[in-house]
Amino acid sequence: MVAIARAEIRRNVESVRERIASAAARSRRKPEDVTLIGVSKFQPVEAMYAALDCGIAIFGENRVQERAEKAALWKGGEAVWHMIGHLQRNKARRALELFNCIQSVDGFELASALERIISGRSGSEPVISAPYPVFIEVNTSGEGSKSGVQPEGCIALAERIVRDCRSLRIDGFMAIGPLSEEEGETRASFAILRSLAEETRTRTGIEAPHLSMGMSGDFETAIEEGATIVRVGTDIFGARHP
Ligand SMILES: *Cc1c(COP(=O)(O)O)cnc(C)c1O
Repeated sequence: MVAIARAEIRRNVESVRERIASAAARSRRKPEDVTLIGVSKFQPVEAMYAALDCGIAIFGENRVQERAEKAALWKGGEAVWHMIGHLQRNKARRALELFNCIQSVDGFELASALERIISGRSGSEPVISAPYPVFIEVNTSGEGSKSGVQPEGCIALAERIVRDCRSLRIDGFMAIGPLSEEEGETRASFAILRSLAEETRTRTGIEAPHLSMGMSGDFETAIEEGATIVRVGTDIFGARHP
C-alpha cells in the first residue's frame, strides 16, 4: 500500500509541476521562479518522505502541535518547514523552534512577540538566529473566517515591523484565495496581494520578494497573477485524514 501511495505521490508531483510550468509560460515567467511548497497537514510523515524524494524541499504545516509530533517522528532527509496557519502568541516560541519561516504574521502583537523571543528580550536565552524570515499574511478576500491583516493595514504593519522588529526580515506576503470558485474573484484577490506588495515595498524600501498565494484549487491563477510560492496539499497528497 505504501508503495502505491509513493507512486501516486510521484505522479501527482509531476503533474503539479507540469501545471506550474504551463501557468508560468502563459504569464511569460520561468517555472523555476515558482517554488512549490508541499502542504502536509494531516498527512503522515511517510507521505512526506515520498514527496521529499520527488524534490519537495519545503513543507507547510498549519499547527504547531502537529509539526512538533512530526519532528519527533521524523526520519527523513533535510527539509525546510514553513508555518502557514494562524499562530497564537503563546505558541510563538515553540513555532520559532520548529519552523524555518512563519508565513502567517498577521499583526504587530505577534510580530513583537517573535521579536522579543529572538532578540532575547523576553528573559530567556535567544536560540533562534536573526534575521528570522516572516511573511505578512493579508486577508485579501475580506472573508471574516480568514486571518490576516486587512489590506488597508498592511503598509502600516510592515513599517512597524521594519522599525521595531529588527530581528525579523519580511520575505514576502501571503494570502489565501477566496472560497468562491468564480475565477474572476480569485484572480482579483491575488491581484490585490500583488499590488499591495508593490506598494508596501515602495513605501518601506524592503525587498520582500515573495508572493505566497495559490493552493490546489487556484495555484495556476495565482501564478498568472505573480505568485512566487504556491502551497499545494491535496493535489500532491490526496485527501487529508484528520
Ligand atoms: C491547507 C492549506 C493549503 C493547501 O490546501 P490544498 O487545497 O489542500 O492544496 C494552502 N495554504 C494554507 C494556508 C492551508 O491552510
